Amino acid sequence: MAALAGAGLSGCASRAGSVAVPNGVIPRIDPIHARMDRMFRITVCSRPFRAAGPRLDVEKVGEKTVVHNYGHGGSGWSLSWGSSAIAVEKAMGSGEKELAVIGCGALGLTSAILAQRAGAKVTIYAKERPPAVRSSRATGSWTPDSRVALKSKTDVGFPALWEKMARTSFHAYENYLGLAGNPIEWVDRYRLADMTSAPESERNDGLDFGHYMDRIADITPRSEELPPGRHGFGNRMAYKAPSLTFNVASYSHQLLTDFFVEGGKLETKEFHQPQELTSLPQKTIIHATGYGAKTLFDDKSIVPVRGQIAWLIPQPEVRYAVYHKGVVALSRRDGIVVQSLGGGEMQGYNDPSEEPNQAEASAAIDTIARLFGS
Ligand SMILES: Cc1cc2nc3c(=O)[nH]c(=O)nc-3n(C[C@H](O)[C@H](O)[C@H](O)COP(=O)(O)OP(=O)(O)OC[C@H]3O[C@@H](n4cnc5c(N)ncnc54)[C@H](O)[C@@H]3O)c2cc1C
Repeated sequence: MAALAGAGLSGCASRAGSVAVPNGVIPRIDPIHARMDRMFRITVCSRPFRAAGPRLDVEKVGEKTVVHNYGHGGSGWSLSWGSSAIAVEKAMGSGEKELAVIGCGALGLTSAILAQRAGAKVTIYAKERPPAVRSSRATGSWTPDSRVALKSKTDVGFPALWEKMARTSFHAYENYLGLAGNPIEWVDRYRLADMTSAPESERNDGLDFGHYMDRIADITPRSEELPPGRHGFGNRMAYKAPSLTFNVASYSHQLLTDFFVEGGKLETKEFHQPQELTSLPQKTIIHATGYGAKTLFDDKSIVPVRGQIAWLIPQPEVRYAVYHKGVVALSRRDGIVVQSLGGGEMQGYNDPSEEPNQAEASAAIDTIARLFGS
């Protein structure tokens, strides 16, 4: 299940329950052309994992009020609106109407837009902007409880806080459905299981990652259980459920556009230590540097969780995601993202390398190629 959660296939799995569907229209499954010569890049990035969950407290740095909004592990896009709503409420509580946001990834952009909606003039300061930010290297799935915290390290209020963030984000995403460029869309996801193999087990190697999807079962489509012949993936069981997909290229572009339309300013700037924030003209600052906070705020609690994606040339006719033998392939508008997740949530844990691994990419693409018999 952990691997499925990371793949954004949680809606296909038993957490939300599944229903047997004896009859119905068999959806057309166009094959993915999984070949190395169609791979146009490999991207790698570190998920900013904190055992205690995202940091959202308020700190004084000199005269400045700094509201933290970082450390969302593998759930940064999924929790962005809800987490940023909390950060913005705290920031606006200071009474200031001019805000600085440090960072231009998923959390920085949503913080900036929500602060504008709350009436603030906002300047984003960031070393990079999309598509150079780590957020641009995400899978693009609704995975609100993927590597977001450890059960044993969170306080009693965390599950309710998580639920609030997840629900706020889910409803915010409704506003981006049906727009030009499809920044957000619903895509069917299939989890396949060989008829002979035992169900996959969770492989957390001792770490108790928090899973909270049961709390939002009412907004999570249940999966359909499809026996062989009721789907297009051969002699296997398939579990199918629709899930939100983030077409990160157009979605980031949309967020940046929304920010600029409301008069937002964006300055390229790198900070090396917290004291440098005191040179900013704004008195209130939302700090959203993601994995960058490990260095900037010397936050030793951030653990990198490495993730790699092999990108195949987009196929507009392929409109689904499939999880098969530890590999997920998700068709997005900007490419088919292929990712090895067989190691479960521990895969890449505490691995700070952001170097592409060609062999890993090749093996993942080969797994998808074999699924389609090529
Ligand atoms: C392979 C992979 C797949 C993922 N898939 C998903 C998914 O499907 N769904 C999901 O919800 N999440 C996913 N995630 C997690 C998600 O990508 C992260 O949680 C999210 O990107 C974190 O966003 P952020 O805005 O905090 O950080 P970032 O995107 O890293 O942005 C940080 C910003 O701060 C700036 N910055 C950093 N340091 C400094 C500094 N010192 N001075 C100035 N500026 C600085 C950066 O330039 C950047 O603008 C995935 C992660 C990985 C690695």
